[in-house]
Amino acid sequence: MATQNESKKIQCGYCQAENDVPPFTSVVTCEFCGTPNELERGEIIENHHMLSVYFSGSELTELIPEYLSKFVGVPEDFADKTVFKEFELRMMPFWVFKFHAHTDYKGMGKFVSPNQSSSWRKHININQRPEKGSIDLDQTCLIFGYREQHKEIRDEKIPVGSKEAFDIKAIQAEGGVIYDTQIGYNDAYAIAEAQVKNRHQQLIFREIVKIEGLNQTIDMKEISYLHVPFYRVTYGYGDWTGEALVDAARGKVLRAEYPVSRSHRLWGFFGIVFALAIMGLAVYLAFASSWTIAGYVGIAVFLGFLIFMLKETFTKKKVAAE
Ligand SMILES: [Zn+2]
Repeated sequence: MATQNESKKIQCGYCQAENDVPPFTSVVTCEFCGTPNELERGEIIENHHMLSVYFSGSELTELIPEYLSKFVGVPEDFADKTVFKEFELRMMPFWVFKFHAHTDYKGMGKFVSPNQSSSWRKHININQRPEKGSIDLDQTCLIFGYREQHKEIRDEKIPVGSKEAFDIKAIQAEGGVIYDTQIGYNDAYAIAEAQVKNRHQQLIFREIVKIEGLNQTIDMKEISYLHVPFYRVTYGYGDWTGEALVDAARGKVLRAEYPVSRSHRLWGFFGIVFALAIMGLAVYLAFASSWTIAGYVGIAVFLGFLIFMLKETFTKKKVAAE
């Protein structure tokens, strides 16, 4: 049965074309003109930017094996035998807020009184005195459009400075898929504002230990909606298949799966034999001597080791990420 969400449509606030509203989304980027329509406020977002794609599929076929070459357990012939199957370009959503914030504060600062005896370790006197100051900062906050999904993208340092006007035709020409934010304008604003307050508080607590008065003004100077390109790449090695995620604006691999080489798994096997031998010894000690507890501890430790080596031996897929 089709739910109402699936059949919901909106009319673009700029070109009037009808667009589908996917479930859980807060913004719909018009597939015809590229204008973002914010559902909560029923408005279009005037500033819409993107980072351009600087890396093509053929460059990724070199980038991914090169990235993986420094990880342990990657088969030596991985670069030669890997077959790249699919390059999916995903435009991921961010909110960009530019704030100017000013805080006047007063409170108690700590200082060490200068007339100390030579045995300072024991008799250090920390005194408090009233202090005041102000903080004046421009701050850019980048809020990723998803709370739970696509976690590896959220922590990326996005070079916002190189943003360009959003160009739906350029993205469609590259076969890109546009992802829209789940976090609406109001929630994103609240998160960004909290970041600004946090930053000011950190700076204040560098100067004083207790805040007694605060006067803060936070002005939003600019709001924009930003799409950043990522590639989801699928590749195969023999009958093994894996995928990688690459920042397409900077050519940086965020995570990549790889098959574990045979020799690496063989070492895992030796590790298991070793762990079993030590466990046997620990069991023997536990019953032969009165140090029962020590024996059990030994078993626990080597059981942990065994589980680790078993995993190393039998997992055929690992994820490389920094
Ligand atoms: Zn439109």
